[in-house]
Amino acid sequence: MTRSAVVNDYNHPQPGATSTLTLDEKVAREIIKNGIQRPKGYVVSYHANPEVERMHFGPKHPMKPWRLTLTNKIIVAYGMHEAMDVYVPRAATYQEMTEYHKDDYIEFLSRITPKDKLEPDNNNVWPYNMGDDCPVFDGLYDYCSLYSGASLDAARKLTNKQSNIAINWSGGLHHAKKAEASGFCYINDIVLAILQLLLYHPRVLYIDIDVHHGDGVEQAFWSTDRVMTLSLHKYDKVNYFPGTGGSDDIGPRNNANPGAHHSLNVPLQDGIDDDSYVQLFKDVVGPCCDIYQPTAIVIQCGADSLGGDRLGCFNLNIRAHGACVEYTKKFGCPLLVLGGGGYTPRNVARLWAHETSICIGTELHRSLPSHTPFIEHFAPDKSLYPELSQTGRYDNKNSDKYLRDIVASVHEQLRYVEGSPSVQLQHVPPDLGAVREEMEREIEEERDAKDHGRRRKERGAGGRGEYAH
Ligand SMILES: [Zn+2]
Repeated sequence: MTRSAVVNDYNHPQPGATSTLTLDEKVAREIIKNGIQRPKGYVVSYHANPEVERMHFGPKHPMKPWRLTLTNKIIVAYGMHEAMDVYVPRAATYQEMTEYHKDDYIEFLSRITPKDKLEPDNNNVWPYNMGDDCPVFDGLYDYCSLYSGASLDAARKLTNKQSNIAINWSGGLHHAKKAEASGFCYINDIVLAILQLLLYHPRVLYIDIDVHHGDGVEQAFWSTDRVMTLSLHKYDKVNYFPGTGGSDDIGPRNNANPGAHHSLNVPLQDGIDDDSYVQLFKDVVGPCCDIYQPTAIVIQCGADSLGGDRLGCFNLNIRAHGACVEYTKKFGCPLLVLGGGGYTPRNVARLWAHETSICIGTELHRSLPSHTPFIEHFAPDKSLYPELSQTGRYDNKNSDKYLRDIVASVHEQLRYVEGSPSVQLQHVPPDLGAVREEMEREIEEERDAKDHGRRRKERGAGGRGEYAH
């Protein structure tokens, strides 16, 4: 081998193609390439405790907390974390979870382990509805308290105005009931977060774009006008979980109940596509905001409404799903953004990374950064926006007329809300700060009164027998 051959064999590394660049440098390049910067005029906070990602429901269970790892990896690979306040929230406490859930249920969750053999009762009812869908796995209680803690942390950052848009992709577990697990959900972190928002906000709008009906949240706020729930979902009373959320499901029938007409549902058939879904979303959410005038909005971004989802049956692509978040953001209310279902992990991760970019107001390049960990999971295209509706496309069973009729029925419900006096702003909950001040004033007055009484006695002991006032 000649000397010149050795020289010719050596390919000088191209910028970006060399391993001498550290990961930080690669991310810094992505930040510049994608124009990522902190949003102007508002703050986005990101609430994620990595401990949640390690949980495992079991090898055959469709819920994979690992999808959160993939999501976070994409977000960090693009450098989006630099545009947000990132928090690692603590777990929710037992007491925080009993703000909604029954004590005995939380107590059960705190002590149950996979070694405790659960048995159904004589009526084939499992304790607290635990079983195949909602298995007992190692670390179950930690899992529940971690994802709930993240939603509470996010809600608190909104209520104390440290954040304008707060994101928790590990939350959004909308099926959990007061004393029962349901549909892979154990604790209803959404309900806990909304209860937190209600300490400061007179009216909270809850929007749910998971493919399944947001039944647990609807049920929790059934009898109040302080929360309006709006769920868009696949509906089949018999053959599709949870079988609720039909167009006649509008809240309590008695108009004297404040919750009447404050549960709105958009039941859909298989195969809805991008354009009709986004139009439908705007046609219902727009009037909801105009008429109800929420002071805070919570959006559950379940990714199982995407095309190609293992359990879903819609044809949505990532940009269409994201367009719903974008539209919701435009109302400018404090916004809590939560995860939910989503059973094709690579697409869940793509979606929630894209929706994070919407929150920070950045348009991402479609190719995933080459340094994204596990990038082979996104093959062959390695893109953020593959055509999802091509894989196992469902026929669209939602005719234009069917969709028009649904919109009309939602508008009909909103007419009742419009005429309802309880929507007025005077229905403001006590502000905790003001409550605290008032309590302190009372304590001060009490102490003064005691002091005064003591002085009075002292004076009385002095034999003067008269009061200063
Ligand atoms: Zn779902």
